[in-house]
Amino acid sequence: MNENKAYLIIVTGLVQGVGFRPFVFRTALYNGLSGWVRNTNECVEIFVQGPELKIRQLLSDLKNNAPSASHVDLITTFPAELSDDSEFRILKSENNSDLVTEISPDIAVCADCLEDMKRQSGRINYPFINCTNCGPRFTIINELPYDRLNTSMAVFPMCTPCHAEYMDVNDRRFHAQPVACEKCGPHYTFFAGNKRIEGTDQIIEQLCKMILEGGVIAMKGLGGFHLACDATNEEAVTRLRMMKRREGKPLAVMFPDMDILKKFAAVSPVEEEILFSWRRPIVLVKNAGKNKLASGVNVGLNTVGAMLPYLPFHHLLFERLDIPIILTSGNLSDEPIIIDNTKALQTFSGIADGVLIYDRDIENRTDDSVVRVVRDIPAIIRRSRGFVPSPVNLNLNTEGILATGAEQVNTFCIGKGSKAILSQYIGDLQNAETTVFYEETVGKFLKLFRMKPEIVVSDLHPEYFTTKFASDKNHNTKHIQVQHHHAHIASCMAEHGLDEPVIGVALDGTGYGTDGNIWGGEFLYCDLQDFERFTHFKYMPIPGGDRGIEEPWRMAVSYLYSVYGDEITKSVLPFLKKLPAEKLDFILKMLKSGTNCPMVSSAGRLFDAVSAILSLCLKASFPAEAPMRLESIIEPGCKEKYPYIFQENVEFDLTIISIAEDIRKNISPGIISAKFHNTIISVIFDVVNAMNERYHCRKVVLSGGTFQNKYLVEGLFGKFMDSDFEVYSHRIVPANDGGISLGQLAIAAKRRHLCV
Ligand code: ZN
Ligand code: ZN
Ligand code: FE
Repeated sequence: MNENKAYLIIVTGLVQGVGFRPFVFRTALYNGLSGWVRNTNECVEIFVQGPELKIRQLLSDLKNNAPSASHVDLITTFPAELSDDSEFRILKSENNSDLVTEISPDIAVCADCLEDMKRQSGRINYPFINCTNCGPRFTIINELPYDRLNTSMAVFPMCTPCHAEYMDVNDRRFHAQPVACEKCGPHYTFFAGNKRIEGTDQIIEQLCKMILEGGVIAMKGLGGFHLACDATNEEAVTRLRMMKRREGKPLAVMFPDMDILKKFAAVSPVEEEILFSWRRPIVLVKNAGKNKLASGVNVGLNTVGAMLPYLPFHHLLFERLDIPIILTSGNLSDEPIIIDNTKALQTFSGIADGVLIYDRDIENRTDDSVVRVVRDIPAIIRRSRGFVPSPVNLNLNTEGILATGAEQVNTFCIGKGSKAILSQYIGDLQNAETTVFYEETVGKFLKLFRMKPEIVVSDLHPEYFTTKFASDKNHNTKHIQVQHHHAHIASCMAEHGLDEPVIGVALDGTGYGTDGNIWGGEFLYCDLQDFERFTHFKYMPIPGGDRGIEEPWRMAVSYLYSVYGDEITKSVLPFLKKLPAEKLDFILKMLKSGTNCPMVSSAGRLFDAVSAILSLCLKASFPAEAPMRLESIIEPGCKEKYPYIFQENVEFDLTIISIAEDIRKNISPGIISAKFHNTIISVIFDVVNAMNERYHCRKVVLSGGTFQNKYLVEGLFGKFMDSDFEVYSHRIVPANDGGISLGQLAIAAKRRHLCV
């Protein structure tokens, strides 16, 4: 019975760069098996021989005890011939096809490494310490397989002790590609004024001193530069903001530890878990507590973007600092985050008090990811560090499809096999530098994942950069165009593995409609191939087009004009008094004549209007500011709502009139906001019920930027689940336009048979 058997085992999933081979090696050794393990570009291959029972034990361990950052998709076993292997070995990587394995996202420094950093010779306070369980991954890789030579660690040859660890199967750094120490690895250099400071201790000491004195420092992080300063120092925060040339946006804050974070914010158990996870994203938590951040950090919103240290350097910094620091992307206005030492020194030397660099290149730019917990489930808002390039599994043939994404908060997406691999957050493609980043990253993904596009998908919008990119004849590919809101719904469907007709509710700011108008309050009956527009928010003129997006007061005037006409000025709303008379006049003339007033059915613009009518935000200093301010003041516990009309489409005239009345009655803005949000929930519920009557469908899919609103999503889930609907919202890709590329890809996969 103890006869030896031999098997070839193929393991796919996220199994490279996460300590998988060493784990296989140790498990085989423990079970007394001989054979080998190796990485190929598509999987991990294992050959084992020994007693059947022991092989079974190994297989069970592969399934159940794999390293925490790994993710096994599939284990396939083939009987094999016995060989004369007498021990178990790790073989050289094999590179033999265009299929690729998953690449690990970057992993926050682990607890073991933090301990080593205090006692291990050669690594005392060494800020590039890492092991197979932690450290940089996606940010340093430029080609598969994941070996040191294919990363930006290639220029740092291992010293003898590091190499010994790398070769020692019993060591935590066995085959850890970025393994390094003080002697052989990368180093930081700090430029402060005219001084050039080397040596971690001296750097940390100087840097902390400068931060405590109110300095602003540009610091090279994992996926790009950050700008840092004391988050409790009003003046420093103001200076940092001016440096970025971006007035309004809330700034992310890194807290020394959870105890200190809890002095500033209310953190739920789920939020705590995500803050501590190896992905270490920014989590939007409720701004509450006895300690206060500088008011310039969250600009009056009731949330703060909080994160915990993830680089060894952060931990060293907080050994000496017990204050939260701003850690925001190091860029100017809307440009991509800077990754290059020379560019950072050029850009920041004159304006920041110090620039911290290190001598390892960042291969793939990644911003910090942002997560918000809704209904105790993490929902991603910006998907980058720690998440990319983990794929989404679709049950569709995605091979050869490149989905170019939307214009704002862009990501693109490539298809491999039946998977969709989303790029990191790219940004807004109206910005020229961002389009360069976009094209570069598309090139990198095609190379990294060995992908030759056959079909390129884009939005319908003729002016989007991505549409022009997709239609470029030089690509020699087929071009498929997908309507924006259909792509939104499809992206949420793809995430949940839905491939059937659903009721899609797509609410957002802007998307090009099939009738040439701007859509954004859309109710679609759709599947992954096609859609039918059941109804939508009533079209409203937006005075000045894009100017109307930047200045929410224009939409407020548009809505008020539609109900009061020329009587508008008699409506005595306080916000109207804040407008210069000639500006108001000018906009009213535009509305009367209809010049430069495109028609929009956008939910975002309705939220803008209400926010402006309440004087919360007349001019937006960042996208979605007006709706965010409106959500931020909701008075909890209010169940009331406003009237509206749902016939051909959904009209908010009565809503606007009632809001104006409430303002005149001095009802608190918090109550008005709650009533308005309840109205939207009620509208969605009514329309969906009407759609269910028509189509007999009880699956409701919510997508679009408006569904980043926690109050709306929680309210809708409550209502729909009480009425036996199945509701789906985003979790692993953003509800905003950052998720569009996944939807485009899923739709193209369904339509590919149509393109000949
Ligand atoms: Zn580690
Ligand atoms: Zn070394
Ligand atoms: Fe959108």
